[in-house]
Amino acid sequence: MKKFYFVFCVLLLNLCLYSTAQEQTDQDKKTDWWGDIDGFLNQQAKITLGMADDLLKLNAPAVVEPVERKMALLMIDNVLHDEKAAYRPAVQTFLQKRIENAVDEIRSSEVKQGAVVWKLYNHAFVVKTPSVTIGFDIQRGITRIEGFSLKKDLIQQLIDVVDVLFISHFHGDHTDEWVAERFIAQNKPVVSTPDLWINLPIYQQILHPERKANMIQEISLPLKGFRLKVINYPGHQGETILNNVYLVFSPEGISFAHTGDQSNLKDFEWIDTVGDNQHVDVVLANCWSGYPEQRLAKGFRPGLIIPGHENEMAHTIDHREPYWLNYQRLGYSNIFPWVQLAWGEKFNYMQNP
Ligand SMILES: [Zn+2]
Ligand SMILES: [Zn+2]
Repeated sequence: MKKFYFVFCVLLLNLCLYSTAQEQTDQDKKTDWWGDIDGFLNQQAKITLGMADDLLKLNAPAVVEPVERKMALLMIDNVLHDEKAAYRPAVQTFLQKRIENAVDEIRSSEVKQGAVVWKLYNHAFVVKTPSVTIGFDIQRGITRIEGFSLKKDLIQQLIDVVDVLFISHFHGDHTDEWVAERFIAQNKPVVSTPDLWINLPIYQQILHPERKANMIQEISLPLKGFRLKVINYPGHQGETILNNVYLVFSPEGISFAHTGDQSNLKDFEWIDTVGDNQHVDVVLANCWSGYPEQRLAKGFRPGLIIPGHENEMAHTIDHREPYWLNYQRLGYSNIFPWVQLAWGEKFNYMQNP
């Protein structure tokens, strides 16, 4: 009986695999899509993203980008500015595969020098140095769209190797209660603004450092046996939403700022002077926060800017920030070097001597 059951399962599995493969081949072999607009757009997205993926692999992130890389990012912008893009299987597969690859790399790579920065979805970043792995705004994508939500077991694998989570502010594209809970369950600190999840039991276990420019505070990492130095700048999104702008110092002395959704003119009071008091290596900046004349960069004076928050698919397409606007916002000049990353890509930052 057991043997029969085994054979039956193998047959069933083969049948499922065969039908999936069949479906794939059938779609790719079709020579017309008349009467199937959604099918057509999905297939066009699949072909476009496939080619963009090939080009990105051949042209890694760099301050000076070859035209092939610019073209790839522009192709991604075009696909993602279709209103229904997040619902298209081709887009969902593109996201899942790129993040799966990044999680594999984060888990397996050994950083011997400098820091490696991975961009995940939206404004989520992971920074790995020889001694610590730091997470910013990690979340699972758009959880209400099943295919556009990253699987729990994948994100759990990521959490297993990240030492601390910094959350910039309460908006859903930056926070994920499940992610925060998993960090806390592993005795890893979660840091946020004081207005997030006030009524949830988890609130008491989240760290809320004072929001004060230029004051160095310490976050204890019990599993690592050391403390991270952090400045928690009192940022805002608009005039009223609290937005922590963290400047985190790795034990090697490399500093990383994450700006969340910083966008408030009054905060230039402190932004203008950050670089007078601190050495900032990398700013992970929401791509619209630069302001005319690169005022944010002039304040931070970082070694490198990595813009983030491009193509947040829950935004309407006018505020679904494209890569092509980064050139306009951050400039073509290399006064403040910047490098843009697609979902799941990484950049190796080496400190200037
Ligand atoms: Zn926000
Ligand atoms: Zn946001």
